[in-house]
Amino acid sequence: MSGHLMGVYNRAPLEVERGQGVRLWATDGTEYLDCVSGISTNALGHAHPKLVQAVKDQAEKLWHVSNIFKIPGQDALADALCEKSFADVVFFTNSGTEAVECALKTARKFHSANGQPERIDIYGFDGSFHGRTYGAINAAANPSYTEGFGPKMEGFHQLKWGDHDAIKAAIANPTTAAIIVEPVQGEGGCRAMPEQCLRGLRELCDAHGVLIIFDEVQCGMGRTGKLWAHEWAGMAPDIMAIAKALGGGFPIGACLSTAEAAKGMTVGAHGSTFGGNPLAMAVGQAAFAEVSSDAILANVNEIAGYLKQQLHGLAERFPDVIVEVRGKGLLVGVKLVPNNRDFMGWARDEARLLVAGGGDNLVRILPPLNITLEEAREAVEKFETACEFARTKLAA
Ligand code: PMP
Repeated sequence: MSGHLMGVYNRAPLEVERGQGVRLWATDGTEYLDCVSGISTNALGHAHPKLVQAVKDQAEKLWHVSNIFKIPGQDALADALCEKSFADVVFFTNSGTEAVECALKTARKFHSANGQPERIDIYGFDGSFHGRTYGAINAAANPSYTEGFGPKMEGFHQLKWGDHDAIKAAIANPTTAAIIVEPVQGEGGCRAMPEQCLRGLRELCDAHGVLIIFDEVQCGMGRTGKLWAHEWAGMAPDIMAIAKALGGGFPIGACLSTAEAAKGMTVGAHGSTFGGNPLAMAVGQAAFAEVSSDAILANVNEIAGYLKQQLHGLAERFPDVIVEVRGKGLLVGVKLVPNNRDFMGWARDEARLLVAGGGDNLVRILPPLNITLEEAREAVEKFETACEFARTKLAA
């Protein structure tokens, strides 16, 4: 290691060289089953032939051109996203946090364009994660992400899940611009907001002229078994941030909005040098076509059912290791007795299984959405091996 990288990551001792489907190979040749998927990003597995082809074809034509011109692929991908969502308009970004940033700006600008510039207050929920830029850390306000970074940004507040009185009061407040919610929290620990609560939020926000922003950066794009996580609740937001699986591993994000909510986002209101570049658009189109297909969504639901059943079985057999199995679709969380970082190391070294950590001492199992039943069986076997090892460690 050169020692010149900013020390912001607690990295696992694993140098990855190559990937194919659900498998990764380290530089020393060791093979791993990858149930991290770049934290829900490599939704079609590694080196998916259609995505590889899209990169190759576009790389030979045009990599980058400024947004002062019409960029190939932007209209087509925006059309596809709007056709399959509540949205009328799209702004392309390079990451999830930028998509969130655009969503927050769109919401405040809406009220300003609507003659209510005093509506600036944004309410996030405890346990949520929206990224690492200033707006995103203030919207989520996890102290470990905000401490030492200067004053809290004005107009950002937090609500607790289930605190209905506080939620109602916040939405009724005449200076409230928007609430921002992850329909299923990812980093916070695979917590799904109850469907009736999402519908209740919609009613309350409509009654008070408040916008709803959904952050589906992690839970969107088929991860929960529907294309968008909010579809389970039969309602829709005004604005939505997505990223991760939209590029299948290529850096791309998007802020989706209704035409009404985006009415303040006129010429000059926002922009990006790289956002919506031709390479990202080419891969995004290929990835979105696959991920939004009925076949992939059916696969997610089938595998999710299998994993849930198997993991509940393991939870019964290993009550000394597993506290709870939760989540939605292939955003699976297993809350543990041992420290989750220890467990991730045991799964990696003893079972060659890669899982992600998560809040509330969880490990997240986030396989690619096209994982086969055979591969899912292998994942369960490996998880069982890790549980057995954890049992011996805990008993020692
Ligand atoms: N929102 C959510 C829900 C996320 O899970 C993440 C990333 N884990 C982000 C925003 C930020 O995305 P990015 O790291 O691409 O900026």
